[in-house]
Amino acid sequence: MLKVQRAIHPSDFSSIPRTRDLIKRLPEAVRVCSEHGEAVRIRESDISPNTGAGPPFGKASYFSCCDAAIEKLINAIVDEAQRLAT
Ligand SMILES: [Zn+2]
Repeated sequence: MLKVQRAIHPSDFSSIPRTRDLIKRLPEAVRVCSEHGEAVRIRESDISPNTGAGPPFGKASYFSCCDAAIEKLINAIVDEAQRLAT
């Protein structure tokens, strides 16, 4: 059950594809909640393909079973992004 969501700020929409790639490379222990066994996902909504230059969606969020799982994944993404940048 994906019942918890955390909105992604519109200023970060353009980095979502990169974030998804990054998540794929993370170990399962980080991507999947150790307590509930659910993977954290990014899901776009308010899809509108004709927005011109902007992204083809109006909202995006991390979805998971609990806040702890989202928190763990976001921390891992930040760490991994920093590791790749150095
Ligand atoms: Zn959980």
